[in-house]
Amino acid sequence: MERKRIYLCLAHMSEAGLEQKYIQEAFDTNWVVPLGPNVNGFEADLEAFVMNRKRVVALSSCTAALHLALLQLGVGQDDEVLCQSLSFCASTNPIAYCAATPVFIDSEKDTWNMDPVLLEHAILDRFAKTGRNPKAIIVVDLYGMPAKWDEIEEVGRKYDIPIIEDAANALGSHYDGKPCGVFGNIGTYSFNGNKIITTSGGGALICDDEETKKRTVFLATQARENAPYYQHEVIGFNYRLSNICAGIGRGQMTVLDDHIRHHRHLHELYLELLGKVEGITIQDNPSAKFDSNFWLTTITLDPSIHVRGQESLHPHYSDCEPNDNVEALRVILDQAGIEARPLWKPMHKQPVYKNAPAYVNGISEALFKVGMCLPSGPYVTDDDVHYIVNCIKEAIL
Ligand SMILES: *Cc1c(COP(=O)(O)O)cnc(C)c1O
Repeated sequence: MERKRIYLCLAHMSEAGLEQKYIQEAFDTNWVVPLGPNVNGFEADLEAFVMNRKRVVALSSCTAALHLALLQLGVGQDDEVLCQSLSFCASTNPIAYCAATPVFIDSEKDTWNMDPVLLEHAILDRFAKTGRNPKAIIVVDLYGMPAKWDEIEEVGRKYDIPIIEDAANALGSHYDGKPCGVFGNIGTYSFNGNKIITTSGGGALICDDEETKKRTVFLATQARENAPYYQHEVIGFNYRLSNICAGIGRGQMTVLDDHIRHHRHLHELYLELLGKVEGITIQDNPSAKFDSNFWLTTITLDPSIHVRGQESLHPHYSDCEPNDNVEALRVILDQAGIEARPLWKPMHKQPVYKNAPAYVNGISEALFKVGMCLPSGPYVTDDDVHYIVNCIKEAIL
């Protein structure tokens, strides 16, 4: 019997079909609009999830949430925003939407997230070069692993620069007992199809107070002033989450804990089966303070490890790409029906951002060359993990 292809992380609905129940309710009551009971209910569920310490706004994507977060912090033309280089482009692109300049900061080796020491160095150097502090800092909890929040928040406070937490990957992760999404001044989540939970596409902004929430909703709904006709004093956006999508979100909140448990279980299993293989290192919590949801289990492959077929690969495309053994392993897994992917390519190595200032220590680039993401989602079974691990062992031994 042929095996079904194994993907990194697919959307997975509740067995009780609650997503459809909430969608049906929306149809039955004709709330087929970007506001309504599901939007309010989903926001309340998320607020409960962050222990009601924060207010949450449901939006059409995490990218939109990051854009609105920057606008809330007053980021505009010619401002500089410090941003983690090792991430998906959605962490950075909203800086460009604001006509501001991204300044990339490299990672530290424990969490793969923004290096707090380099962050402070960059702030001082930007001040020396421009006479101003950067306007904001965007820090990512990559693959679910929390950043070094104590150190990073300390730097933010010292220089009085607000921080945005891109927790797109980290719904359900904790740092020092607190849920990711609540660090810094504003946080964001993603509910894209491949994340911990999905609304088929959606995101959220997490903020401290009702006033910021109201302002965010205002900006997300075309900035309509309080008048009987359409009156506009600032530029707004169409970024609110649909009541239909929010219905999916409410159903997904009932399986969130199961999803998180499953991602962590798969990570444990990878550790058990693959952890002792020479030349392979599985990314893990650096200390008891960190509690990743392990959205994706990630490995690094030592350059000395030989993978079948690595010498017959095609010519290189650029000066920054995965090592031959990593690419050969990806191809072997792909042919075995397994989706595996390199890590995010650092933004400071992306042609589109080649002119942006960057403070680098070589870590994100080195990680990109040796790293790989393995299937980790709700549809991945224990049997799949055994199969994946066997394929990897056969490819390298
Ligand atoms: C997926 C992702 C985003 C963007 O989320 P969308 O909801 O798709 O806009 C932002 N940052 C990171 C790190 C992500 O992985």
